[in-house]
Amino acid sequence: MEQQYQRDTICVQSGWKPKKGEPRVLPIYQSTTFKYETSEQMGKLFDLEESGYFYTRLQNPTNDFVASKICELEGGVAAMLTSSGQAANYYAVFNICETGDHCIMSSSVYGGTFNLLTVTMKKMGIECTVVDPDLPAEELSKAFRENTKCVLAETISNPTNVILDIEKFAKVAHEHGVPLIVDNTFATPINCRPFEWGADIVTHSTTKYMDGHAMTVGGCIVDSGNFDWEKYADKFPGLTTPDDSYHGITYTKKFGKGAYITKATAQLMRDLGSIQSPQNAFLLNIGLETLPLRMEKHCANAQKVAEFLEKHEKVAWVNYAGLESNKYHALAQKYMPNGTCGVIAFGLKGGRKVSEKLMDHLKLAAIVTHVADARTCVLHPASHTHRQMTDEQLLDAGIAPDLIRFSVGIENIKDILADLEQALDQI
Ligand code: PLP
Repeated sequence: MEQQYQRDTICVQSGWKPKKGEPRVLPIYQSTTFKYETSEQMGKLFDLEESGYFYTRLQNPTNDFVASKICELEGGVAAMLTSSGQAANYYAVFNICETGDHCIMSSSVYGGTFNLLTVTMKKMGIECTVVDPDLPAEELSKAFRENTKCVLAETISNPTNVILDIEKFAKVAHEHGVPLIVDNTFATPINCRPFEWGADIVTHSTTKYMDGHAMTVGGCIVDSGNFDWEKYADKFPGLTTPDDSYHGITYTKKFGKGAYITKATAQLMRDLGSIQSPQNAFLLNIGLETLPLRMEKHCANAQKVAEFLEKHEKVAWVNYAGLESNKYHALAQKYMPNGTCGVIAFGLKGGRKVSEKLMDHLKLAAIVTHVADARTCVLHPASHTHRQMTDEQLLDAGIAPDLIRFSVGIENIKDILADLEQALDQI
């Protein structure tokens, strides 16, 4: 039996495993298509009778090697890369939800995900109930309907730093016969593996820590293989009844634990085409190699920044689960004992205008629409990503108007703190 490696070893050694005479480094299969000897060989691929590559819109070897590394990191059975985190969450839900179906989503998810499910997917006839992630299990349970097909939440929410009680969500979802999808972007599998706590599907915006260098937009979906689709066959006909577009194959019967990812690849990727470019997958793979080192430094630096801010007289509040005073500290200790992530949310005394001013005085921390990369960066959602909203609307969305999202990088902590200190001195 092959030895099971630790996560930091998986990051450098898994995925592409060269055999005799092959390149040491993962090759970029920069090819739209793949050659076959006979028409029959190619035909079998189109019938899903044999596995193999034929067109990069569906699958590409570079992508698959990287997906298999992420799959192993999460402890799943199958995975696929997508062009973005948005595509990953879209496919993860749409793979099991059709017009007339319903899903449940935590209110604290990233704004893009919120829009995707409550606005765009609503237009496709899929309804979404938004729930407070801190609701007790009995209350959560009331949101479920006959036609509910999945629950979606983030391990650590962007930007509000809510820590998900994964076990609570998984238990309630399973009681209602539906899978829990967890967006694990901020924690990464280095700090939390949601499958170990009952989640069924994990998604990622690999754009964030996994790439880690702000170079590539990308996403990933991983299946734990644990959800029993056949047990709830009536709920998930797309997986458990014949697919006419593949000569009547039934995904669960033909692919067993690989059913969910095979369907998302063979059907959704074929028809919607949000593939990640092999070049981006190659760069993502380089990022993954150093992910454990970077996560450790992000968390250590963020802890110090959060402690500094908490003590500062001009700071009104700090939201970072590493702080003992934080509402989510106990949950973070349970699910992420080695640290959460490098993202801190905080507000200043004096509110929105003062927050804007602070941003202008920062020198090392760059103002960018990005988060979770090696360089410290900062964003004021009320002035940027959520600019169109009034203070009241912001509060409804759980975003304080003075909230500054400070994404702590891996620079020397003394320089990050000095930058914050000089900026705070000037307001
Ligand atoms: N999920 C989370 C938690 C995010 O923070 C983001 C983007 O910020 C996304 C998904 C969307 O990912 P992408 O920007 O790669 O489409």
